[in-house]
Amino acid sequence: MSASAGSHGPAAGGHGPSRGGRRETIATGGVADWLRAFASAAAANREYLTDLDAAIGDADHGINIDRGMQAVAAKLGDGDGASGLSGAPGAAGSATGAAGAATAAADIGALLRTVGMTLVSTVGGAAGPLYGTFFLQLGKSAGGAAELDLAQWAAAVRAGVEGVQMRGKARPGDKTMVDALLPAAAALDEASAAGRPLADALRAAADAAEQGMLATVPLVARKGRASYLGERSAGHQDPGATSSWLLLKAAADTLAGGSATAGGAGAAADAADPSGSARR
Ligand code: ADP
Ligand code: MG
Repeated sequence: MSASAGSHGPAAGGHGPSRGGRRETIATGGVADWLRAFASAAAANREYLTDLDAAIGDADHGINIDRGMQAVAAKLGDGDGASGLSGAPGAAGSATGAAGAATAAADIGALLRTVGMTLVSTVGGAAGPLYGTFFLQLGKSAGGAAELDLAQWAAAVRAGVEGVQMRGKARPGDKTMVDALLPAAAALDEASAAGRPLADALRAAADAAEQGMLATVPLVARKGRASYLGERSAGHQDPGATSSWLLLKAAADTLAGGSATAGGAGAAADAADPSGSARR
């Protein structure tokens, strides 16, 4: 690995320290980049997600996720993590006098909790409260940290999934977003325990989410609207598992390496055409 350290320090893009030329932590700016990338993916896949929901639900999942994430993106602003919501320590009502070194854009927990509340308040249906809970628990786990290492990220994602399960009571195999989120959390735990690099872990999580999403196709839904269809829900990919894959994929694309800006754009462009990867 030829680290071209020197001119481009690890601080570029607001990300954490790097090891062997790669970042090994996720900073607040990175989290904001991830959320923007997911918002782009939600917009690009609005029709796709809605079509999936038309088959086994009420044809609004893309509309729901897009509405919620555009509200989140509006709060984030266009900056690189130093503006808008991500730069407001008090955004979620946390103490503003936290003081010192880490001034603006420091608190990942506050950022994520605000995302959760924004989703709960702007998205109707099942997905709003469920994704809202995911981000609230993610934020709770992150606490007031300014950056998260792989173990902390894995723990946060695990807490998020547990929140979704607590709220929605879905178990693995019920044909829901849990079928994508849970394997991703497991992949992160595994990578963390094995001491693998952050980038590899994020990619493994996205891949696990994709496999989980694809595995929902033959399942009969046991939770949510699709469960009303009984056996007829089989043969269709779950919309919520698909948006969860997009969420994990956005994390891998934006946080796993390269410059945050390039990664963000790539994530949006990639996710704009799920037909090849999501339906194969
Ligand atoms: P609604 O079903 O209210 O129209 P959406 O269409 O936005 O809401 O979201 C549907 C998705 O929500 C489903 O594809 C499924 O993944 C997820 N979902 C529904 N109910 C549950 C639940 N109890 N637990 C986890 N996920 C659920
Ligand atoms: Mg729906």
